[in-house]
Amino acid sequence: MLKRDPMLKGEARPPQSPLKDMKYVVVSGGVLSGLGKGVTASSIGVLLKSAGLRVTAVKIDPYLNSDAGTMSPFEHGEVFVLDDGGEADLDLGNYERFCDLNLYRDNNITTGKIYSKVIEAERRGDYLGKTVQVIPHITDSVQDWIEEISSVSADGSGLQPEACVIELGGTVGDIESSPFIEALRQFQFRVGRENICFVHVSLVPVMGPVGEQKTKPTQHTVKELRGLGINPDVLVCRAETPLTQEVREKLAAFCHVSPNAVMSAHDVSNIYRVPLLLRDQGICEALGIDCNATDMMSKWEAMADHVDNLGDDIHIAMVGKYTGLTDSYLSVIKSLQHASYAVNRTLVIDWIEASNLENESHSDWDVLKAADGVLVPGGFGDRGIEGKILAAHYARTNNVPYLGICLGLQIATIEFCRNVLGLEGANSTEFDENTPHPAVVFMPEISKTHLGGTMRLGSRPTIFQVDDCMTRRLYGGASQVDERHRHRYEVNPDLIERIEAEGLVYVGKDETGQRCEIFELEGHPYYVGVQYHPEFKSRPQKPSPPFLGLLKAASGETV
Ligand code: GLN
Repeated sequence: MLKRDPMLKGEARPPQSPLKDMKYVVVSGGVLSGLGKGVTASSIGVLLKSAGLRVTAVKIDPYLNSDAGTMSPFEHGEVFVLDDGGEADLDLGNYERFCDLNLYRDNNITTGKIYSKVIEAERRGDYLGKTVQVIPHITDSVQDWIEEISSVSADGSGLQPEACVIELGGTVGDIESSPFIEALRQFQFRVGRENICFVHVSLVPVMGPVGEQKTKPTQHTVKELRGLGINPDVLVCRAETPLTQEVREKLAAFCHVSPNAVMSAHDVSNIYRVPLLLRDQGICEALGIDCNATDMMSKWEAMADHVDNLGDDIHIAMVGKYTGLTDSYLSVIKSLQHASYAVNRTLVIDWIEASNLENESHSDWDVLKAADGVLVPGGFGDRGIEGKILAAHYARTNNVPYLGICLGLQIATIEFCRNVLGLEGANSTEFDENTPHPAVVFMPEISKTHLGGTMRLGSRPTIFQVDDCMTRRLYGGASQVDERHRHRYEVNPDLIERIEAEGLVYVGKDETGQRCEIFELEGHPYYVGVQYHPEFKSRPQKPSPPFLGLLKAASGETV
């Protein structure tokens, strides 16, 4: 570690500085993407929190899109929706889940947002007479943005955070990320070197017959980072097996870090072990924090142990269209896992490509029939819709626990209209504009011309319409719940009375009492649909109620 005061015990900045008490940990990455920078950043957040600090987090995405809302889950993984309706990178979900935060759209900085802001200011005349340039205008704007958002409470305390984790997306050396690296290089002088710590995540591959751990890729990426003016204080090295002492020392010598600050991030039994792994190698000392200041880590350790010792398997069939790509449904998977911890079962997700179910002799039907529960997640576009409708039909008519999320609620409503109400050809106008029976319709307030940020987005209240029902019990009897939304279509209000008369009851509605939010089927162990996305608020130690209901019912408990 560099010879200086530990980061969090550093001298206070001069009184005129607005950042007096703020500490920053910047997490960058090198060699290749997908090394687990997000998990590293979240784990550091957990450790900062366990030291008793109020934490927030910022993700920098160097792409030109304003936000992730218009990006395909194929390209970029799921779009994570925030309380304020921000459509963000999935790493914000990692921070929220690990550190129990509620972040804002501004916690996700993109090149698109920064340039829009600077260009808008230029048009207003804010820089009148000046040539507007990447340095200093873009780099200043990045620093101002970080400074501003890191002072906004994200942990529910209403108090200003004391530590902020900043994750820089992409890989050091990318053209796109260079203005951000330059901004962060300057930022260390703005906030004081004692208030900022640079953590670099790299890869140590294993080569050759004796399994030699190779340090060269890390040496190169650190050289690149140092060439850009940033000296890493801590190295986190992804490796299959623990780094040997020799490799640690070699990395320390070639990368200008203390051997005590070279962390081995080798494979572990579950993701919750990562903060423990870093703690046990002394990252807290390198950061200058005492993570035993609270009892958080002992609880965290108990959770990691519990996750390694769960009971019998429970099979949940996920009927979707991006089944090969788990990042596309990351929060849904996490929510199922959280609920499985609560019922002490080992979760097995059986992926079913929805369109396969359209062929009645496809082997995926056997997988569906063998599952303990069925989940149809959110989605857009018509591919696989008929398969999803068949899955909902199967779950409804065979008393198999079912959770439909957003599109999953909509397709279950279509199925019910077709097969119970006898409305042949019932559909959503998203898939068939000329359907004779529009069961799901475009919401009146949604833009028909602009796709970015124009859905019904973010936290909205759902009011229970009945005193007692399964979902209300799962939510602890609350009369109202706030969950996050992302949709353009809704159940056709004109059909609700007829649907409810046949037993599919919309037990939760929006504040106007018109818009459907939750349905439950009478007489079924668990046939539940939610128009919102409960997966965005699930936490490992606080599973989302609709998911908990699914897992309870799937394990044979009465909900
Ligand atoms: N495509 C549907 C809609 O826009 C469902 C959206 C979703 O599942 N998130 O309403």
